[in-house]
Amino acid sequence: MSTLSVFPATHAAPDGASARAVVREVGLRDGLQSIATLVSTAHKIEWINAAYAAGQREIEVGSFVPARLLPQLADTAEVLAHAKTLPGLLASVLVPNYKGAERALECGAGLMVVPLSASHAHSLANLRKTPDAVVAEVARIRALRDASGSRCLIEGGVGTAFGCTLQGEVPESEVLRLMQALLDAGADRVSLADTVGYADPAWVARLFEKARALVGDRLWCAHFHDTRGMGLANAYAAWQVGITRFDACLAGIGGCPHAPGASGNVTTEDLVFMLERMGVATGIDVTALLALRQRVAGWLEGETLHGTLWQAGLPQNAARTVLREAATA
Ligand code: ZN
Repeated sequence: MSTLSVFPATHAAPDGASARAVVREVGLRDGLQSIATLVSTAHKIEWINAAYAAGQREIEVGSFVPARLLPQLADTAEVLAHAKTLPGLLASVLVPNYKGAERALECGAGLMVVPLSASHAHSLANLRKTPDAVVAEVARIRALRDASGSRCLIEGGVGTAFGCTLQGEVPESEVLRLMQALLDAGADRVSLADTVGYADPAWVARLFEKARALVGDRLWCAHFHDTRGMGLANAYAAWQVGITRFDACLAGIGGCPHAPGASGNVTTEDLVFMLERMGVATGIDVTALLALRQRVAGWLEGETLHGTLWQAGLPQNAARTVLREAATA
């Protein structure tokens, strides 16, 4: 794996710490689950191999939901089995319930994300449970994990943290309460998601700062959708308050089946470019990601893809800045 040495460090991390961030690829789950095209198992494996070769070390490879609900992800066990053969790759899966967690443990996932929707209306529509029923399920999943002797991490993913299309407003106090409740129930980590793209940078900074004050480093990841063009700005705002792990989808694919009109996650290649350009090391080669995007686009003909870096390409001054710095060193 090679880092993008053409991008010089221009900014220190907000707290002066070494500037590093993790971009977790969720295109194979969040992306593919919301589009009609079925991507073959062979292509998913090709995607994972290329993302790994580009330097990605955290990939959400699928979801353990019934195949009749999401035929796009019916091969998750097979895809996970392959991902586990790549040294140092943290392969995660989404599990909507206890049954899904059983499968994740059987199949040896490195991490399982249990989604919780802070919006009661969205929770009932999407998971057919109240948020507190999901918290209770996480307690059972934790007991199962511990009894199995597995080291699989449990991440509670708090979705609709900035509101939702069904309920509108979701109070911050409720988001923070549920985040703490997930940890109390046994989740190892929690993350916050703007499922439908309602957040703005100031709101992101405020909520993530409060969340970090409450649970510290157990706040693991920021998950933004680019529905209203705020994705990268929101990621930057989260970075400014100390968040160093972000979910993203190659080519910005996806959306949410229960959030009409929602576009996909922040685009992986654009986010990696932004971070590297700021001097934040991601360990990911953005040129390799652009090549992978082209391959994946070929499998998704007719689907709407997103992102902007691929259209313009890398800036010409990237290498020049390094030369200038070398001359003055
Ligand atoms: Zn999402």
